[in-house]
Amino acid sequence: IKVQDYRPQAFTDFTLPENVKAYQDALQKVRAELVGKHYPVVIDGVVVETAEKIESRNPCDTDELVGTTGKATPQDAQKALDGAWKAFESWKKWDMDARARILLKAAAILKRRRLEACALMSIEVGKNYAEADVEVAEAIDFLEYYARSAMKYAGFGSSETTWFEGEENGLMSLPLGVGVSISPWNFPCAIYLGMLAAPIVAGNCVIAKPAEDAGLIAGFVTEIMYEAGLPAGVLQFLPGVGKEVGEFLTTHARTRFITFTGSRAVGLHINEVAAKVQPGQKWIKKVVLELGGKDAMIVDETADLEVAITAAVQGAFGFNGQKCSAMSRLIVVDEVYDAVVNGFVERTRALKMGTGEENANVTAVVNQMSFDKVKSYLDLAPQEGTVLLGGQAPGEYGGQPGYYIQPTIVGDVGRDARMAQEEIFGPVVAVLRARDWQDALAIANSTEYGLTGGVCSRSRERLEQARAEFEVGNLYFNRKITGAIVGVQPFGGYNMSGTDSKAGGPDYLANFLQLKAVTERW
Ligand code: NAP
Repeated sequence: IKVQDYRPQAFTDFTLPENVKAYQDALQKVRAELVGKHYPVVIDGVVVETAEKIESRNPCDTDELVGTTGKATPQDAQKALDGAWKAFESWKKWDMDARARILLKAAAILKRRRLEACALMSIEVGKNYAEADVEVAEAIDFLEYYARSAMKYAGFGSSETTWFEGEENGLMSLPLGVGVSISPWNFPCAIYLGMLAAPIVAGNCVIAKPAEDAGLIAGFVTEIMYEAGLPAGVLQFLPGVGKEVGEFLTTHARTRFITFTGSRAVGLHINEVAAKVQPGQKWIKKVVLELGGKDAMIVDETADLEVAITAAVQGAFGFNGQKCSAMSRLIVVDEVYDAVVNGFVERTRALKMGTGEENANVTAVVNQMSFDKVKSYLDLAPQEGTVLLGGQAPGEYGGQPGYYIQPTIVGDVGRDARMAQEEIFGPVVAVLRARDWQDALAIANSTEYGLTGGVCSRSRERLEQARAEFEVGNLYFNRKITGAIVGVQPFGGYNMSGTDSKAGGPDYLANFLQLKAVTERW
């Protein structure tokens, strides 16, 4: 296929009134056309009406039911698995270009419907305009990038081998079979779509299990994949409860691979059950895990403090800290501690709380469980440090019930404190005081996680040391530590943050391919 070189999508500039107006119009359209909709389970291209439904509520106004999805049972999951294996027989024979074309077509449709996807996420998970916009841009990027990645595996001998006299040698890349993709609610469009598009374009069939809190946006983009021409059975849409259908599929003998993004606890559990060989199982399951983080940014005494403060506010409070990459630890060397912390508190104080639809800086966290969990850390905060800002969980805004939590900054937290070690996944930052640069780096590396990290410094020597020694999968200097762009910053963590499989990276598709070396003696 003739395609342009891959270029990431541009982000929308919401300082321009016409872009704000277009977003507000899209919100109205989505309210009229999508809110209240039901996205059913789809197996082999056929709608399956389930006895029960999953409700998706607006976290910024919990009285509002955004819509429903089907609730698949283990019996449905079994049918989806059987159907997917049947579909695999023909899908694996499609050539790479033909499969890539479906992703490119889906990207074109999503570009046209970008604002609707954004608006739906503002209502379903409380993303403000910019957060929703960068996410849908990322979803389009995944489709465009993986389509191009697939093309490089086309044909026999596409991977490099060394010439050997008297023989022809080649390395074929073949799909694995049927896998399950289990995604989180926090990037319910981009991660959901990226995690199914990559294995599918490589020739596999996928059973996609979206998160319960964000089933509508998953249903919306699934319909786009079907509209783009994906054959029935290649993508089975299976909204359901993780502990039920997720567990059923990850333990099943006929599941060839699992791609999972979510919490460390669930990820490690999946790793364990997937490792146990079931009766009749023919393979070792391939497991790709993208898990949580306790991400830190270091600020030293040589840093441009304005740059550091901006990076801290953006990295900590974008989407209310509900990003695996969010800055949840700010480590500042003693010499500039007060200046950085005062600036950070002042700038954070200016953030406006409200709904995603109003485009507030800080909105509500996603659900009751999340609200209760974050609140428990607010209760712990006075014992583990000094609450410098926030600390309350009002649970309402403007008279509207919602999972609202104040942006919270806790100073002088000890390096071993729970708030410095455990993922909170909300708008709460632990600030830690380091003696000097070396101490700061040691603190940064003192958790079991290793997802993102950052350093704000003007010292070349220190940046080079961090480049080698900061134990994270994604490291950023003199900028915020969130916002990886597909193809630009391949994303994935070290240690307990995952299998470092680097979504949006040049080798990501290799996770879903097996190689066969074939030799012919002449
Ligand atoms: P989660 O609770 O682990 O859920 C993730 C998915 O797993 C959901 O679809 C869930 O279904 C399902 N699930 C739950 N129990 C299961 C089981 N026993 N077997 C199979 N599937 C099961 O995570 P989350 O709260 O949605 O997402 C937040 C977490 O994701 C954070 O820890 C964050 O750091 C991490 N994350 C990591 C990355 C990364 O790239 N490293 C990116 C985004 C998020 P239900 O919805 O039905 O419970």
